[in-house]
Amino acid sequence: MFNVAIDGPAGAGKSTIARAAAKALGFIYVDTGALYRAVALNSVRNNILDNEKAIVDSLGSIEVTLGFDESGVQRVYLNKEDVSDLIRTPQISMGASKVSAISQVREFLLELQRDIARSNNVIMDGRDIATVVLPNADCKIFLFASPECRAQRRYKELIEKGESVMYEDVLADVNQRDYNDTHRDIAPLKPTKDSIMADTSELTLEQSVELIINTIKEKMQ
Ligand code: C5P
Repeated sequence: MFNVAIDGPAGAGKSTIARAAAKALGFIYVDTGALYRAVALNSVRNNILDNEKAIVDSLGSIEVTLGFDESGVQRVYLNKEDVSDLIRTPQISMGASKVSAISQVREFLLELQRDIARSNNVIMDGRDIATVVLPNADCKIFLFASPECRAQRRYKELIEKGESVMYEDVLADVNQRDYNDTHRDIAPLKPTKDSIMADTSELTLEQSVELIINTIKEKMQ
């Protein structure tokens, strides 16, 4: 199996770029953020997002799974309910950032991620794919862009989805999540020594996809 790890901060375009690259290469695209989001959704629904112990306890009674539809698009299930669309809100983004700092949550989701990579050619996107989940990945890419650039992109995305948000709030969220993700004790976001650094600030989406596809192809030779 050929495993590609793509890590990077929120809003760097990882998911869009990784999805397009996976399609072009015939790989499965795995969005691991969706797993943390599913745990966050469960915590929000049970009103326990501020209670770490309750979140850990809740892991015993929830099942998070991934599926892929006919066109290879990932769906995430919380206790068999398809929650793929419900997890794409700013509230759940922040919640995911919170629950992902809990070691038991990370442990809970680890094997699921490794299992998929064991039996498929994957492009897996997240924060700790190269550092923790797939340390032996064949290709490791650290994809990033400036905070302002990322906030602008996410703002556009949310507006297009009909959410009513303000750019300043989106930027504050990006900065807060960057801080959370890079400063947490467990599996902080960072490149590995052998990560290939890809800055997409000045690139269009098409150029970013091309860069990633070429980077992966080079490693596949
Ligand atoms: O990538 P996405 O924005 O969907 O991720 C939501 C949150 O889940 C991130 O802010 C991060 O805190 C967490 N996450 C993580 N490890 C991953 C993927 C996501 O900690 N592999």
